[in-house]
Amino acid sequence: MERRPQFGQRFLTKDAEVFEHNAWDQVDWDEEQEAAAKDMVAQNSGNPSEEVQQDLLQNSAEKWDKFYGIHTNKFFKDRHWLFTEFPELKEVPKDNEQVSIFEVGCGVGNTIFPIIEHSDENTNLFIYGCDFSSTAIDIVKSNKLYSEDRSSKDMKDVCVIGAGVAGLVAARYLREKFCVTIFEASSSIGGIWLYNKDKTGVKHTPMYKNLRTNLPKQLMTFRDLSYDKDVPTFLTHGHVMDYLENYSKKFSLSNLIQFDTPVISVKPVESTDSVKWNVTTTKGTRIFDAVAVCSGPFSKSRKPDEINFKGFSGPIYHSATYKDPSDFHDIERVLIVGAANSAIDISLELWRAGKKVTLFHRKSEDLHGFPKDIVQIRKNVKSSKHKEIQFCDGSSISCESSQLVMLYYFALVSTQMYHL
Ligand SMILES: Cc1cc2nc3c(=O)[nH]c(=O)nc-3n(C[C@H](O)[C@H](O)[C@H](O)COP(=O)(O)OP(=O)(O)OC[C@H]3O[C@@H](n4cnc5c(N)ncnc54)[C@H](O)[C@@H]3O)c2cc1C
Repeated sequence: MERRPQFGQRFLTKDAEVFEHNAWDQVDWDEEQEAAAKDMVAQNSGNPSEEVQQDLLQNSAEKWDKFYGIHTNKFFKDRHWLFTEFPELKEVPKDNEQVSIFEVGCGVGNTIFPIIEHSDENTNLFIYGCDFSSTAIDIVKSNKLYSEDRSSKDMKDVCVIGAGVAGLVAARYLREKFCVTIFEASSSIGGIWLYNKDKTGVKHTPMYKNLRTNLPKQLMTFRDLSYDKDVPTFLTHGHVMDYLENYSKKFSLSNLIQFDTPVISVKPVESTDSVKWNVTTTKGTRIFDAVAVCSGPFSKSRKPDEINFKGFSGPIYHSATYKDPSDFHDIERVLIVGAANSAIDISLELWRAGKKVTLFHRKSEDLHGFPKDIVQIRKNVKSSKHKEIQFCDGSSISCESSQLVMLYYFALVSTQMYHL
């Protein structure tokens, strides 16, 4: 193996070689240069100000592009220490063994190419590199050793919006090929499965206290993680959350997630030839090669405009804000609008809690097997006044509260957001 050259032997004889080493040994510094160097060392020894840190963080690509624009592949050249410091990199994969190396911040390939040279064209070795700087990546691509088959020029940056069920499973597979960042608006994974008492704001989810899944656990698993055999077939939100935590742990997903980071908009980057996306969060803007929108189908609730509740003076809630029967502690009669999963579940829960429940829906016939004292009405609402609701056939009911059925629409990130 090539040894590291001894210090004291780097003599600059050709100006063109000025970038060959970090320092030349025959250079004598005058006092002024030495003072300037000491001053610079002192400046760089302290912690940079918040402003400088933000600038470095937000403009990293630009700064590294400038750096590599000047130094091209000369600056970090000849890493003679590479295999001394990291002897494991010398190990060439055996015949059937596939080894993948991922270098974060690959620069112009000063680590990737020595490893490729050393690996003796072993096709079981895959090297992936990513870097802030597209100038660096272009230099990697121009190297004669660069080959798409063996060294990927860059890891595509993929943004996943949301760390609910869809976001987690998307990230688990996308990360096998791409560099994934998940932006999650709240401070937890799990999306709707996180139960909390908040009724508005980013922490609010439509999960209610006593919900049991309407699918058996066997149908709610991902391919590579089963539910514990001891948990019941129809799960509580706590079971689903535990499962998602385990899934996230098993595939080390949490280090990909930036919590408390809502995405505000996603727009195409206009100045590039290939399609890239500007993803703007509350903390800044980043460019991604692709975006997976996993922000959930149940982000926003919709009240049915076609039903006239204008004159009704009792409280009207959407089931997305329902938590448990104690929400209705001072209410005796409740009208539930709709007859899908949540409406049925909440009707039964309120009925069991002793409320007089009326279920208003448009199904062609009454729901079978429903308790007889939950009245079912299948006519259109004509008008509502104070605490009375009148139906088209002339009948009416009075109730203190109307619990509305879940009618959701896909809420994309903002009106400026592009539909992907
Ligand atoms: C009450 C109820 C009961 C259900 N019961 C079942 C059941 O029993 N079985 C079943 O299979 N399915 C059930 N579902 C369907 C359930 O929604 C899906 O199973 C699944 O959990 C949806 O996952 P998701 O990741 O698409 O969305 P979500 O769980 O909604 O997750 C979306 C995530 O994206 C985040 N997010 C949203 N906007 C942004 C943004 N702008 N920036 C960053 N992050 C953002 C949210 O904070 C959230 O964490 C139920 C749904 C509801 C509402």
